[in-house]
Amino acid sequence: MQDVYDAIVIGGGPAGMTSALYLLRSHLRVAQIEKLSGGGQLLLTERIDNYPGFPGGALGYELADSMAEQVKEWESEDNFRRITDEVSAIETGKELHRIKVGDEWITGRVVIICSGAEYRKLGLPGEAEFTGNGVSYCALCDGNFFRDKVVAVIGGGNSALEEALYLARLVDKLYLIHRRQDFRGAKCYQDKCFVHPKMSVMRSTVVEAINGDQGGVTSISTRNVESGEARDIDVDGVFIFVGFQPLGTFIPEEMDRDERGFLKTDQEMRTNIPGVFAAGDIRSKMTRQVATAVGDGAAAASAAIAYLEQHVS
Ligand code: NAP
Repeated sequence: MQDVYDAIVIGGGPAGMTSALYLLRSHLRVAQIEKLSGGGQLLLTERIDNYPGFPGGALGYELADSMAEQVKEWESEDNFRRITDEVSAIETGKELHRIKVGDEWITGRVVIICSGAEYRKLGLPGEAEFTGNGVSYCALCDGNFFRDKVVAVIGGGNSALEEALYLARLVDKLYLIHRRQDFRGAKCYQDKCFVHPKMSVMRSTVVEAINGDQGGVTSISTRNVESGEARDIDVDGVFIFVGFQPLGTFIPEEMDRDERGFLKTDQEMRTNIPGVFAAGDIRSKMTRQVATAVGDGAAAASAAIAYLEQHVS
């Protein structure tokens, strides 16, 4: 008979690592699948200053390393398999679920989906053309390319404000461009952005095109949605933070999602498919934080352990 894991965890971010930790501590056999290296969004975040227990903040990659280290303390050859590859399908079943990863199918009694989310694209003229050549979705990854230059940051949520504050330390000037008057990001970030000497805040303004040449981005075309005034602004780079979308093209049709494609769960992280759980950013919910991902991971693993106790003799 094919090897059957007690649990398969899809994803290696904070939700996935917490799930794996809890499952391994219950002496279950676990396979954890991660597309690249573990850490998820943590690796794209410079400093996390709202994860409890780290006064002064924690560096994203250091927090990811510490979480991975703690999982390792419980891993052994017999109880754990880490698979670094992409999941392309899930076949849910009554008692067993099959996951296609790379060219292989693996089987588990429960599955915890922690595949996360990614930054949305705006679909602007020039956006795809200049991605990697002036257009970016990651300040931590690309900020250094714009040292002492002029950049625009598009968006009004926590990501836009947080990343703008990070970028403002590097660049010469930053335009923070938001389509409405009011920002939805935390007030403490707003307060810092609005008085920042390097930031020019443009409200009720949309970007209509990103312009450039062979050397990369040279300007953006903006329009004020209240006055209708159009303005071209010279910039060297454009950072776009207009929300998240789920990473889960492999998730089967029969699983319930919200209108944006995030997986619906109950408060125990159970999806509509018995034995399949979801945790972290892939889940339909209001707050997406490291702290909530960790909480989801703990809850999902605990519910999965209870499910196994009830359903496997
Ligand atoms: P978000 O909170 O959904 O904000 C997206 C922003 O992009 C909004 O201001 C939205 O404008 C704007 N936007 C959306 N579509 C647009 C379009 N087509 N054109 C122009 N602007 C557009 O997304 P996020 O900032 O990526 O954050 C995602 C989640 O992670 C949130 O729950 C957030 O709180 C959390 N997060 C938390 C922290 C933290 O607390 N440290 C850091 C990062 C992220 P409107 O406001 O007009 O809708």
